[in-house]
Amino acid sequence: MDCPVCGKGCIHDAPALLAGLSAHFSPCPDCTGRLLDKRRPPADLSYLAPCTCGKRFIDEVFAHIYTVMVEEGDLPSTAPLLASGVPLLDPATVLRRAPFLPARSLVLLSRYVTDHSAKRLVREVPEVKGAILDRQVIPGAVDPDLNRPATHHRVLAGCDVGASVVPTPAGPLVLYRQHSLMHIEVPRPESPKVRAVASRCRAGDDRLFVDACCGPGTLGLTAALLGTPAVVMNDAWYAAAYWAGCNLRVNRMALGLSSVSSEVTLSELAETPVRRDPLLVAEGVGDRHQISVYQGDLLRLHQVIGPRPVLAVLDLFQKEDLHQTRRILSEWNAHVRGEIFIP
Ligand SMILES: [Zn+2]
Ligand SMILES: [Zn+2]
Repeated sequence: MDCPVCGKGCIHDAPALLAGLSAHFSPCPDCTGRLLDKRRPPADLSYLAPCTCGKRFIDEVFAHIYTVMVEEGDLPSTAPLLASGVPLLDPATVLRRAPFLPARSLVLLSRYVTDHSAKRLVREVPEVKGAILDRQVIPGAVDPDLNRPATHHRVLAGCDVGASVVPTPAGPLVLYRQHSLMHIEVPRPESPKVRAVASRCRAGDDRLFVDACCGPGTLGLTAALLGTPAVVMNDAWYAAAYWAGCNLRVNRMALGLSSVSSEVTLSELAETPVRRDPLLVAEGVGDRHQISVYQGDLLRLHQVIGPRPVLAVLDLFQKEDLHQTRRILSEWNAHVRGEIFIP
């Protein structure tokens, strides 16, 4: 599947990605690298080249990134190494030790990167596949009234698509997203939200499972992987709905889907960044499963759910706003039968 952002091979089916995962960030016998203090400036503007195997220790990669950013005037040479930015690894997974990075395995999220330095980083640092300007927002947070597009970061060069590997009790999920447009979650050995979903999905429960603010599809796909026969995933933000549909395809073998149809392209969806009436984005069908992805207002999702009883999960960005959460729950319960829970 070609990447809809850069046209290159950023996207892999889950079995292929998982098969190579254990060796992906491991060194070869010849790999070396310095451990650098991230809270200080490096001693000088120097870095080791990648090993003959093509990998380089993450601190050397950051020494290279830092050198470019100092040369371009993004950072003073007195800035600590960590000022260059945050590494978003592709694929992001739970790591037991600091990684050795192959080519195109890092998206840089930086407050100080500029148009010019971003282009140099993608061109000159082989491990960097994309550079994002960190605008100090939560990317993908849509205002609950859907009056404004979500806040997001800005890609300055390259591609910002990356996968994360999320463990579930039924095996790992591979979830792609655009880091500039969607909330970044650091993979953990066990996610409390995944656990909350797993504790409610019981064998024989044939209620429709609804992931009402699905993001890249983590909770809806977890329910499907645990055997829930019918799942609806929904997000008002186009990027989330698109990548949830892509992740349905990426994980189709583990989900037992015989076909996955994509109804709209990323660029078509981007024309309406936030949508109210539900639009079918993708659908997967198998012997035991039917999984649909919509872009729309969760409070209009009853238009496609109908009278079926549901088990719904509501993973809001602003769940600490109790007044708003209560209003959403009461409006939801006026139209939809069944249970809704906040993970
Ligand atoms: Zn790409
Ligand atoms: Zn090596």
